[in-house]
Amino acid sequence: MTIQWFPGHMAKARREVTEKLKLVDIIFELVDARLPQSSRNPMIDEIIQHKPRLVILNKADMADQYRTNEWLAYFADKGIKAVAVNAHQGTGLKSIMSGAQEVLKDKIDKMKARGIKPRAIRAMIVGIPNVGKSTLINRLAGKNIAKTGNMPGVTKAQQWIKVGKELELLDTPGILWPKFEDQEVGYKLAVTGAIKDTILNLHDIAIYGLHFLEEAYPSRLKERYDLEEIPEEIVEAFDRIGAKRGCLAGRGLVDYDKTAELIIRDIRTEKFGRLTFERPNESDDV
Ligand code: GDP
Repeated sequence: MTIQWFPGHMAKARREVTEKLKLVDIIFELVDARLPQSSRNPMIDEIIQHKPRLVILNKADMADQYRTNEWLAYFADKGIKAVAVNAHQGTGLKSIMSGAQEVLKDKIDKMKARGIKPRAIRAMIVGIPNVGKSTLINRLAGKNIAKTGNMPGVTKAQQWIKVGKELELLDTPGILWPKFEDQEVGYKLAVTGAIKDTILNLHDIAIYGLHFLEEAYPSRLKERYDLEEIPEEIVEAFDRIGAKRGCLAGRGLVDYDKTAELIIRDIRTEKFGRLTFERPNESDDV
């Protein structure tokens, strides 16, 4: 899904999430495990205020496992519970339930102490486009999709999906905008396919990807394109890759578009293996 975000759209998105906040006990903040910082909404803390939250690193199957563990530890350090899942295959889903219970433990314990039988936890998924919100909702809903209809006191019809006995999930996620004023964030979102290629220049995205691979995973870059060493000038690497892979425009010249597309496709389709584009210590403003 591609959304052109304008101030009006942002205000509306924010209003929608704020309205639904009242209905839930906890927010499931979905982010991309390959870029757990850049795939967050820049105003998320302000929007959800003090509502309990569980950060879900989705697409963990595509992310570097070592880095995912670093991120989980980082969030834990900040006192934010985070779990890693693969909504596509449905792995790690149990950790969402146990994570939510952990976050709400005090509240649940208090209810128990007062003799109140805890009801199902009510949750809403929020996140920027393309992080896998719909995929996760469908996964959690599974075959047992049972819509509970309107909740008392709610004017607008809200559909709830029952996930087992212990969780009820709003069937529509909150869609928030990414932090696109930061160019680096824009490139990370583009190279992973979270935003449309047309927003940024294709060559720049590919060059960004090459720079990243050169720094973070140089041996994988060399191996993939059979490079003995990575040229100092990254545009030279780009040219060599184009030539080696037969991305030619005639008269032996490299076709820049084809080469850029090839590199971006290789990154997105895991030809370099599982990649994570940022480390926790690079961004200390979570
Ligand atoms: P939404 O815009 O946040 O609702 O995102 P979608 O649910 O439409 O997912 C965007 C894309 O990511 C789709 O192509 C999904 O198949 C893919 N996707 C979602 N979750 C995962 C995951 O855990 N792993 C992988 N590899 N792909 C996923």
